[in-house]
Amino acid sequence: MSIESQIKELHNELPPTVKLVAVSKFMPVEDILSAYNAGQRFFGENRPQELAAKATELPSDIEWHFIGHLQSNKLKMVVPYASMIESVDSAKLLGEINAFAGKLGKKVDCLIEIHIASEDTKQGFSPEEALSLKVGDYPNIRFRGVMGMATFTDDSQRVRDEFNSLHKVFEQMKERVAEGLSEFDQISMGMSHDYKLAISEGATIIRLGSSIFGERKRG
Ligand SMILES: *Cc1c(COP(=O)(O)O)cnc(C)c1O
Repeated sequence: MSIESQIKELHNELPPTVKLVAVSKFMPVEDILSAYNAGQRFFGENRPQELAAKATELPSDIEWHFIGHLQSNKLKMVVPYASMIESVDSAKLLGEINAFAGKLGKKVDCLIEIHIASEDTKQGFSPEEALSLKVGDYPNIRFRGVMGMATFTDDSQRVRDEFNSLHKVFEQMKERVAEGLSEFDQISMGMSHDYKLAISEGATIIRLGSSIFGERKRG
């Protein structure tokens, strides 16, 4: 199926409460424009340099979500361009984004990445670490919710349990960490192979790459 018809079909299929982020990492700008012309406005990138280059070249009404591991020396390629950083995976990084945003005089929308998979390669806060965050320490961060990746497995019950555990951490954070923050309302979970499960467990953002753009050679 073409990129255009894939986007149109997803826009028809998805509940209005779920935002689609088209993960365009490693994809050329022509493919992003195909999705854009079909009405897609949210795109995800996981490499700072690629995000900065594409954001500069492509239409300014695109909202870019950064979804990769971020190092402090790359903040200048991400903070000015991203409408949301979904992959804040440590308190140290949170502090660095807060300081950088302060210098630019802006507030940055962030999701706290929670480690929910059993694979230890996946980064993120443990639920305990996330629940001990103090939002008052980060005046330039707008805490919007949580993000997570399930284990890559055919065991759908396990994937469902992991998404469910992310939803629970979200609820606990809303009560204890983000108390009174009405904008703490996003749960980003679900990729091409597991987004239906993620939606049934309460995802508000799904991040789809290969099911829109085709298989990647890398990344
Ligand atoms: C690549 C990537 C995706 C999209 O993966 P697909 O399987 O191609 O849909 C989603 N989230 C993150 C964090 C990614 O790095």
